[in-house]
Amino acid sequence: MPRPIVARIHAAAMRHNLNVASRAAPRSKVWAVVKANAYGHGLARASRAFDAADGLALIEVDGALRLRDLGWRKPVLLLEGFFDESDLPELAAREIEFAIHCHEQIDMLEKARLDRQVDVHLKMNSGMNRLGFQPDQYRDAYQRLQAIPAVRSITLMMHFANADDPANAAMPVAEQIRRFDAASSGLEGRRSLANSAAVLGHPELAADWVRPGVMLYGGTPGGKTAEQFGLQPAMTLESEIIGVQRIRAGDAVGYGSRFVADKDMTIGVVAGGYADGYPRHAPAGTPVMVGGRRTRIVGRVSMDMITVDLTELPDAGFGSKVELWGRHIPIDEVAGAAGTIGYELMCALAPRVAVIED
Ligand SMILES: *Cc1c(COP(=O)(O)O)cnc(C)c1O
Repeated sequence: MPRPIVARIHAAAMRHNLNVASRAAPRSKVWAVVKANAYGHGLARASRAFDAADGLALIEVDGALRLRDLGWRKPVLLLEGFFDESDLPELAAREIEFAIHCHEQIDMLEKARLDRQVDVHLKMNSGMNRLGFQPDQYRDAYQRLQAIPAVRSITLMMHFANADDPANAAMPVAEQIRRFDAASSGLEGRRSLANSAAVLGHPELAADWVRPGVMLYGGTPGGKTAEQFGLQPAMTLESEIIGVQRIRAGDAVGYGSRFVADKDMTIGVVAGGYADGYPRHAPAGTPVMVGGRRTRIVGRVSMDMITVDLTELPDAGFGSKVELWGRHIPIDEVAGAAGTIGYELMCALAPRVAVIED
């Protein structure tokens, strides 16, 4: 028998969430973002669940080729473009679109002398200061691309730093839009701007294409909870209680004896730990569901086990079902307790966890 920890992936929730994105941006086409193994949900599975999307976007070159092998015929986009010029002929042959964010990539594209045309997405650094051309270099880059015979189309692309926090004083959404509009005005091409936070929070910025990621998996991009946005969790991480300890006031639990009982308690041991992707930094008090009831973890998360408080759950014991996150315990709540975001927990689901689709 395998260990009792499993991740259930809810394909119907993924379809529902894609619909939420489409309804929020009714005049836009949708790139469903499936990087990082579809945020831990499985690339092949996501390509089926998102069959209504207009295209799939990701970071990994091998993943893009795999989507073609899986029979995905609609557009595929590499959000950071290619990393090595040796990839270019195959990307062109398999009709994979890619971002261009720096002059070095344009140099490679010029040299490649491709015999198939490509669709490129010219990225502007409109204030986030990660990838992209500065606004004052954008037109130059555009013209260099236009002069390459193998370039069939240029989409104008940027990314928001604070779409979940529009008033962020260091770089407000409005300032990024102002820079983008000024530097791209008059340039022909479709516009692609919005991640999940912008789709949900700024539908007026949806433009020609939107690029939702985390919302498709039922995670919140920030601002409100996933439930408030009408999103359904796409992953439930469940396990079972594999041991029970009755401890006395003053007894300590786990490595470092970080949790000391202030009364007599019943402790359940869950099969699952940081080697499964549960965050080691989750503190005592992080919510967990046992036998259908909400309780909390206590003590340090270890590699293969998590200890939980069963004191008020007299019906719980060996074999009780545990939900670490999912339909009842929002992944964002666990992430928040551990000082991170739902994105990271989804992506960190470990390969040793069995995955079941339901
Ligand atoms: C990851 C990514 C997205 C999706 O972001 P979410 O916050 O998950 O919606 C969109 N655009 C680009 C360029 C990305 O890298």
